[in-house]
Amino acid sequence: MTARIIPPGATVGVLGGGQLGRMFAIAARRMGYRVHTLSPDDDTPTGQVADREIRAAYDDLDAVRAFARGVSVVTFEFENVSAAAAEAAAEQAPVRPAGTVLHTTQNRLREKGFLRRAGFPVAPFAAVRSRAELEQAVAAIGTPAVLKTAGWGYDGKGQAKISTPEDAAAAWEALTTDEAILEAFVDFEREVSVVAARGVDGAFAAFGVLANDHTNHILDVTVAPAPVPPEVERAAVEIARGILEGLEVVGVLCVEMFLTRSGSLLINELAPRPHNSGHLTFDACVTSQFEQQLRAICGLPLGSTELLRPAAMANLLGDLWQDGEPDWAAACRHPAVKLHLYGKAAPRPGRKMGHLTALAADPAEARRIVLAARKALSPHP
Ligand code: AMP
Repeated sequence: MTARIIPPGATVGVLGGGQLGRMFAIAARRMGYRVHTLSPDDDTPTGQVADREIRAAYDDLDAVRAFARGVSVVTFEFENVSAAAAEAAAEQAPVRPAGTVLHTTQNRLREKGFLRRAGFPVAPFAAVRSRAELEQAVAAIGTPAVLKTAGWGYDGKGQAKISTPEDAAAAWEALTTDEAILEAFVDFEREVSVVAARGVDGAFAAFGVLANDHTNHILDVTVAPAPVPPEVERAAVEIARGILEGLEVVGVLCVEMFLTRSGSLLINELAPRPHNSGHLTFDACVTSQFEQQLRAICGLPLGSTELLRPAAMANLLGDLWQDGEPDWAAACRHPAVKLHLYGKAAPRPGRKMGHLTALAADPAEARRIVLAARKALSPHP
């Protein structure tokens, strides 16, 4: 199949206004594209870099249609856009990845159901829609387990650990929705992810395996390459390939996985877009995950995912601001540390404000440097 190319000079549309759209817009503008963004806010991280920022609700279907009419292709950086909005956009321009991918990945039950049916490795799970179903699920899956809202969850929001069957009642009461998933708790060795892309022509390219540390369910530090055996690396990339092909993704998708203590991989969740764990590709790879998203959705050949140097990324959350403005010069003092800030005005605790990437001779050294640079940011250590 020869795909029609959307060439530099064309306008690409991004649904969503956060940092993922911002870094996508930087990559797109560097390659000579124009960028329009639509989100419910003004002066967004994406809007600050885009050519045009449109403020509208995602469920304002007329606004979404008008937005899509003004661009050659629509992508998104916020995956909880409704199926109706994705369809409205698709009446006017190609939406990549398609709304069907969003539909599958924005609900944990649909996502895990797809993965299990297709034979991908996932921990035992069960659908929970009532307290009685939760009790049955706890009996079937055992404890410890994790109860998660099925929809609209991210960064650990809407999750409760059930350590003993007696915890079930309180966990159900604490839930704010009536559709949830109970998953077996995975006693993992480490968390890893694979960010991969698939082109309009079916071409596939993956960045190598990334090792992720979370704090309070939020990604804290990513290191590349992940310290995993080559067979784990190969298996993780093949899982990603199978998923992108199975979902017919055109664009970028991240597969978050647990590496168990026995060396097997279990998929935690999918994100049909560039991912926080792939931010280090901006500075450390031949092609960043954002440029790869652009190439994929525009029908261009995918770029090399080669890692130029071992790297580590540390997130900068709003908590860093609690004693005043961070000492940016201190972090920049290390010549191999790159500072990324997302242009957000209000540094709320837990809010992703930016990140640091360090490049070094080996991943452990990169990690040491990035953590030291982040520590140096605090004005009163
Ligand atoms: P999620 O929002 O599902 O990505 O969960 C956020 C984090 O919670 C994950 O990155 C893990 O650190 C932890 N977590 C989620 N589900 C499980 C599980 N089934 N077993 C162990 N840890 C989990």
